[in-house]
Amino acid sequence: MDVRTVAVIGAGTMGAGIAQVCAQTGWQTRLYDAFPEGLEKGMNTIDTFWEKGIARGKTTEEQKANWSANITQSTDLKESVDGVDLVIEAVPENMQLKQQIFGQLEEMAPSHALLATNTSGLPISAIAESTNCPERVIGMHFFNPVPIMKLLEIVRHDSCSDDTIAAAQSIGSAMGKETILVNDVPGFATSRLGVVLGNEAIRMLADGVASASDIDTAMRLGYRHPMGPLELSDLVGLDVRRDILNSLADAFDDDSYHPHPLLNSLVAEGSLGKKTGRGIYDWNEGEKSDREDLPS
Ligand code: NAD
Repeated sequence: MDVRTVAVIGAGTMGAGIAQVCAQTGWQTRLYDAFPEGLEKGMNTIDTFWEKGIARGKTTEEQKANWSANITQSTDLKESVDGVDLVIEAVPENMQLKQQIFGQLEEMAPSHALLATNTSGLPISAIAESTNCPERVIGMHFFNPVPIMKLLEIVRHDSCSDDTIAAAQSIGSAMGKETILVNDVPGFATSRLGVVLGNEAIRMLADGVASASDIDTAMRLGYRHPMGPLELSDLVGLDVRRDILNSLADAFDDDSYHPHPLLNSLVAEGSLGKKTGRGIYDWNEGEKSDREDLPS
């Protein structure tokens, strides 16, 4: 598949990272968000990443100028998907919202365009079947931070065409990712294990087993995880993790997947992780520190 123009739907943690990598790949990239403030935040995130790259000598001013020229931003969905070859959706983890967006994408995007969702755990088949073109809908599950993480989990469902799978694999390779192909089971190959580990670490924190930083150090040094499960949860976003746990609990009809009450309380008080400056840790000034005031 020859990709020239891409629309990324949702300019949050993931959408901004995906748009950044698409622009770096040389594709004309349109970043769309329903909210101007979401769009502004996403564009700032991309700019900051490139500026840091320049400061560290990893990126040149010329590269940044070329990549920036590849990105446009919009709060108009129709305009954003007009003439694109690929759409990657990264709006919040909510089935109704994703189905509604895919319904619009089917109407507004060209009929050849591949329609991908970055959902962390919702059934791709249910998103695909909300359209009349399920054969060109596929899961493309990126990891945070997208410009750094090598893995792309491609999720196929029963109505997905072989051409769509092959196209998603070549798109992933062009973006510099290593792809794995997974069937459409709840939580795919990655999210299920990741959120269960994070939820258990939160239970241990609530039970007073150890401080957050000591629980994280246990997994970093004891199991060679590059990052502890609590720090990772803050990086991913606690609201995102809570939503995935709830959808696993529903999908498997198993209460053991439900988010721990501490996770629900953190989300309820607006402590969503690094993106809000507070989560399980305090992230003021970019450095994490253990919180003394965790909700009960
Ligand atoms: P986020 O909350 O950071 O960003 C979501 C963005 O979508 C926001 O900018 C918001 O303004 C925008 N938005 C909300 N409603 C919209 C609408 N109707 N139309 C267009 N934009 C809308 O979320 P995120 O962490 O980037 O997650 C996005 C998706 O990616 C979710 O499905 C999540 O499960 C998945 N995901 C997240 C991670 C992660 O580490 N955060 C990793 C893999 C996959």
